[in-house]
Amino acid sequence: MKYIDGFRDPAAASAFRAKLEEHGKELSDAGRSVCILEVCGSHTMAIARFGIRSLLPDCVDLVSGPGCPVCVTPPGYIDAAIELAGRGVIIATFGDMLNVPGSDSSLAEARADGARIEVCYSPLRAVELALENPDSEVVFLAIGFETTIAPVISIVKQAAASYAANVSLLTAFKLVPPALDALLTDPDLAIDAFLCPAHVSAIIGSNAYEPVVKEYGKTCIVAGFEPLDIMMGIDRIVELAAAGKVACENQYSRVVTPEGNPIALQLMNDLLEPEDAYWRGVGVIPASGLKLKHAYAPYDAQVKFGISVEPGKEHPGCLCGSVIKGSHKPDQCSFFGKACTPDAPVGPCMVSAEGTCAAYYKYLRTT
Ligand code: SF4
Repeated sequence: MKYIDGFRDPAAASAFRAKLEEHGKELSDAGRSVCILEVCGSHTMAIARFGIRSLLPDCVDLVSGPGCPVCVTPPGYIDAAIELAGRGVIIATFGDMLNVPGSDSSLAEARADGARIEVCYSPLRAVELALENPDSEVVFLAIGFETTIAPVISIVKQAAASYAANVSLLTAFKLVPPALDALLTDPDLAIDAFLCPAHVSAIIGSNAYEPVVKEYGKTCIVAGFEPLDIMMGIDRIVELAAAGKVACENQYSRVVTPEGNPIALQLMNDLLEPEDAYWRGVGVIPASGLKLKHAYAPYDAQVKFGISVEPGKEHPGCLCGSVIKGSHKPDQCSFFGKACTPDAPVGPCMVSAEGTCAAYYKYLRTT
């Protein structure tokens, strides 16, 4: 029996496509176009996988943004993790960080050279590692957006409860709303609307995008990850653009609330404070990162080991910085599909399961 998921129903997709064509015609007849930036790497992957770009009218340009946490983490962060590993520290990390290039090497290469790099499926595995290895230090690579910050910092709570003093976090957390501000003030970009991330919005709430609408006059639509969610979100943006309107709307109300997740937000507020953060390809964005508050300094690897995270060296010729901002598409990079493939990535956008180059390579490559 043929099973059709409700969010992938072909008849519903055809109906949305017809609506999108109608709204696109209205926009085009008005002599206008719309540039939409999909903020989230999971949207990027789903859009490529389901061929959604091929359904868009000519007046709609859909570009990929900085919503892949691995991709925006600077090479200097990997360098710092490798330095710690070289001091005998056990590095605990999610697997997608292993092949991300640092300035000169990667964690996978460091592991091949004997460093102890442990891949974790849960952040709390770092506490278990600390308890299993009482004579070693364990550092968890604490990167990510609002989606993952609360579970990652629960390491601190669990370590305190378990009297595990030998675990700490190398933090490089990033916040989405300040990144949208930075993209909108970048003179190289001309973004008209954002397809806002689903996971992040489940934490921060759809109200978090109201300032983008009020201060910049740009539409923000929160959309889920299923193909119909994405089509609905894009269609609504085009409909608003055709009518000459802007709005902040939540098309993913089955998961996202206006206020977000109060428990996660409270935990983040209790343990963390804002800091200026360096984003690969974008540079320093004021108050776009979070670090542990002074009271939690014993769990801050930078304080504990006296190290700092520098921007590091990007591979010359890699356009990841421009791809992350949406000013270039992966196939505009001369390395794409030749010197740079998922098996031999040159930049992080080809490594991550949410990376734009990886999405193009897997689903949109023509050669
Ligand atoms: Fe960087 Fe590779 Fe993407 Fe080029 S194709 S921008 S080298 S990740």
